[in-house]
Amino acid sequence: MNLYSGYMNKLIDELSALPGIGSKSAQRLAFHLMNMPKDRVMRLADTIVQAKEHVRYCKTCFTLTDQEQCPICSNEKRNHEVIMVVENTRDLAAYEKTGKYEGVYHVLHGAISPMLGIGPNDIKLKELLVRMEAEVEEVIVATNSSLEGETTAMYISKLIKPLGVKVSRIASGVPVGGDLEYIDEITLLRALEGRIEI
Ligand code: ZN
Repeated sequence: MNLYSGYMNKLIDELSALPGIGSKSAQRLAFHLMNMPKDRVMRLADTIVQAKEHVRYCKTCFTLTDQEQCPICSNEKRNHEVIMVVENTRDLAAYEKTGKYEGVYHVLHGAISPMLGIGPNDIKLKELLVRMEAEVEEVIVATNSSLEGETTAMYISKLIKPLGVKVSRIASGVPVGGDLEYIDEITLLRALEGRIEI
């Protein structure tokens, strides 16, 4: 049964395709948008388009940035011989917030998950390997402590250790399955300091 107009249904469909938005939330958002002043709706739509057009992956670490190379990779004061591997840009932001990590990052954009059919080629692992051609002292694997995160950590160790590069894993203490972005800074620092070679 068609309760709303075709335009409204299309909007609800698009919104409910977003992660974490069920059909009820999508309806609520759609009604909210229709009740907003037109200029605010235009501004929101324009902000989404502008962000999509200008945000891209850093050519070195693959974090999301407005520039060809992100501010961390282009900062000469950072230690470019220590690379922390994280699953996404939000995890990078969590470590950056501590203000205590001086190395650089590599953002995988996911983790290996045989259950979801995500293999090594579906995340930025080849790109990590390419970075080993430069001088690298240590790779710190800071993927989540979920099954996927652990699988990815083991895979990275097998890939990089034979190249003579030290590979370490952040200490457990980070709750199992815990998303790094929700963990407080002290726990993150403890996990970093207590990292062990794998
Ligand atoms: Zn970068």
